[in-house]
Amino acid sequence: MRLAVLKESAPGETRVALLPDAVKSLVAKSLEVAVESGAGVASGHSDEAYAQAGATIAVDRASLLASADILPLVNAPNAEDQRSIKPGAVAIGFLRPLDEPAMLLPAIESGVTLFAVELVPRITRAQAMDALSSMATVAGYKAVILAADNLPRMFPMLMTAAGTVAPAKVFVIGAGVAGLQAIATARRLGAVVEAYDVRAAAGEQVRSLGAKFLDVDLGGIATEDKGGYAKELSEEALERGRDLIAKTAKTADVIITTAQVPGRRAPLLIRRDAVENMRQGTIVVDLAAAGGGNCELTRPGETQVLNGVMLFAPLNLPATVPGNASQLYSRNISNFLALIVKEGVLTLNMEDEILSGSCVAHQGKVVNPRVTAALEAHAAAQSHP
Ligand code: NAD
Repeated sequence: MRLAVLKESAPGETRVALLPDAVKSLVAKSLEVAVESGAGVASGHSDEAYAQAGATIAVDRASLLASADILPLVNAPNAEDQRSIKPGAVAIGFLRPLDEPAMLLPAIESGVTLFAVELVPRITRAQAMDALSSMATVAGYKAVILAADNLPRMFPMLMTAAGTVAPAKVFVIGAGVAGLQAIATARRLGAVVEAYDVRAAAGEQVRSLGAKFLDVDLGGIATEDKGGYAKELSEEALERGRDLIAKTAKTADVIITTAQVPGRRAPLLIRRDAVENMRQGTIVVDLAAAGGGNCELTRPGETQVLNGVMLFAPLNLPATVPGNASQLYSRNISNFLALIVKEGVLTLNMEDEILSGSCVAHQGKVVNPRVTAALEAHAAAQSHP
């Protein structure tokens, strides 16, 4: 059984799928591990560290792809790389199967078994494999650091001989994993924090972090599905949230927005007029940019200055903290591998709900109904542009 760790090729990607310590334990379980030269350099892990962990270092990417039985990845490889993967091999990573399903067709057609970490069910047994939560934790932290670095003020309240410095006011929209980490980070820096979420259950978690939870009367409608995620709201309910957000944003120094509804475009929550009424120097970090953004003016991947308001829309904040992002991801991937490698042999028990839930394609066929629907929608859009 041969496992290969690639140097990620997506622009700006600095993370690596497995760290040397994870490689060491796989080698101890009789797996052969090959690492593409330079794979870990951007996250602080040299080829020597991988070699010491028992990996062989390879420079020929195509032969690495052609010989591996298992490919732990951060991002989906490009089409050419996908065509080089050995048929029947298993690839695991952030494959964006619902966002860009057609990008995976070369690997699907050549019979690669694909597992998307985004689709790992959020059941208790899978918590240690929850890469979405790991990356959201890093992004929530880094969003606050980015805002603090660009804010013309400090976060904590200070009483000095030269006068008192008021604490910064931070407003967090969406109190899921990223939002809660943003609240905790902003509180540690001494800010006064307010947060809003449509799920009432988030209120208790927000308050336990020392922040104020803002409630909106949504007329008692269900805002949460049975999996604990937010539901898509009616336009009327969304508008009530937007009004509260516009009012709160007028006096905030920093706004971190993280709201997402799984499988949907990110909800539009910050209207243009809300941005126009913000104070000069306000910082907005739209962490939902990859899903289209929570702010009407967001341009994914760009930073804009609009009437003195800085609007950040980063697409890959975890890649700006590659050491810890890779550490957490490597652990998530190792735990997933423990599920599919038994006594050194690839063993795919497709009855296991973690495997069946996260599998995109197996033996040349798409096996996930949501991915099938996404591919059909893509094909329809291509034929009727
Ligand atoms: P997410 O990234 O899908 O969304 C982020 C937040 O945006 C959520 O809290 C959501 O309620 C909020 N949101 C959606 N629409 C909104 C709107 N119109 N206005 C305001 N806020 C809106 O969520 P997530 O961070 O992945 O987590 C969602 C839930 O799943 C949380 O309850 C979390 O605790 C839970 N979770 C469970 C596990 C597990 O293993 N059991 C793991 C991770 C998360």
